[in-house]
Amino acid sequence: MKYMTEFRDGKIAGKIARAINSESNKKIRIMEFCGGHTISLLKYGIQDLLPDNIEMVSGPGCPVCVTSKAEIDAAIELSENPDVILASFGDMIRVPGASMSLRQSKAKGSDIRIVYSPDDAVKIAGDNPDKKIVFFAVGFETTAPVTASSVKLAESMNLKNYFVLSAHKTTPGILSALLAEEVRLDGFICPGHVTAITGTAMYKPLTDAGKPCVVSGFEPLDILSSILLVVRQVETGIAKTEISYSRVVAPSGNLRAQQIMNEVFSPTDAVWRGIGVIPDNGLKADGDYKRFNACAEFDIEIETDEKETKGCICDKILRGLNKPTDCKLFNSACTPEDPIGACMVSDEGTCSIYYRFGRKGKTVA
Ligand code: SF4
Repeated sequence: MKYMTEFRDGKIAGKIARAINSESNKKIRIMEFCGGHTISLLKYGIQDLLPDNIEMVSGPGCPVCVTSKAEIDAAIELSENPDVILASFGDMIRVPGASMSLRQSKAKGSDIRIVYSPDDAVKIAGDNPDKKIVFFAVGFETTAPVTASSVKLAESMNLKNYFVLSAHKTTPGILSALLAEEVRLDGFICPGHVTAITGTAMYKPLTDAGKPCVVSGFEPLDILSSILLVVRQVETGIAKTEISYSRVVAPSGNLRAQQIMNEVFSPTDAVWRGIGVIPDNGLKADGDYKRFNACAEFDIEIETDEKETKGCICDKILRGLNKPTDCKLFNSACTPEDPIGACMVSDEGTCSIYYRFGRKGKTVA
């Protein structure tokens, strides 16, 4: 297969769906970790092709959604500093913090610039030597190497006014945390883009716990094939890591990206929205690169105790305990135009995806 459309071929999709239907007997709940997978599941009607005994459960793999209110509040606090220009990806400026969003802070006069990559923030730093430029860095191992690379770029340019407020989170810790949840999960569709960086070793705790893991791409045939592989493992009582996205993912991952992350960052505790603190699950600029750490430069502590907005059940949705349609505010008080919780803000947020593609999801147990 060479072109995108071949991964959306209806005849092949039907063939794989028939195989899933004929080979699947047990009631199973499969978590798709990533919002990109949830989009494909709903947008292409994949859920409708699955038998009633298979339930897909959305996971916490939307980086915007899991950024804690405290991290957003820290970004807002920095943006209010007249010496600071805060650079952020566009999605983040609409996410509500404890009392307001970055967009509201910008409306009040803070200098907040939307960037498409951290290198844009480095350029702003070069253009504004009398200001301190803070890049609000979010995302998993997919974006962390790019942030690390921007730090190295700033160092090579001898910039003293570039800093990173890191809300980066890493995947292994959250996978273990999911195992400790009360929700029953029988297998995982694992994120192809993250695994392209990390490699597959991080799934060992899941497979050791008897949970099949299949690393998947994002096109409909990728997802269907991955579901079939999970079903086969569950039906035969096997739990191992398989890659159904071998055109992108190698078992060892991207060694150069891992190296640059390890050079610039060291692990630190991370606060996940709705989930809480996960030890050593975040990344902070450290060692030779500590001077780029915005928390150290501006003496900022990220609070670890936070509550969701009244009525919002994002915390339960991110842990796979509820679906957006269980929320009383879904599609009434809360819409993508006027989001109440983080899951309605990003295109990869589960509530936003359910809103746009209008499916209710199935429950099997
Ligand atoms: S619909 Fe809105 S309020 Fe309800 S859980 Fe989702 S984001 Fe929160």
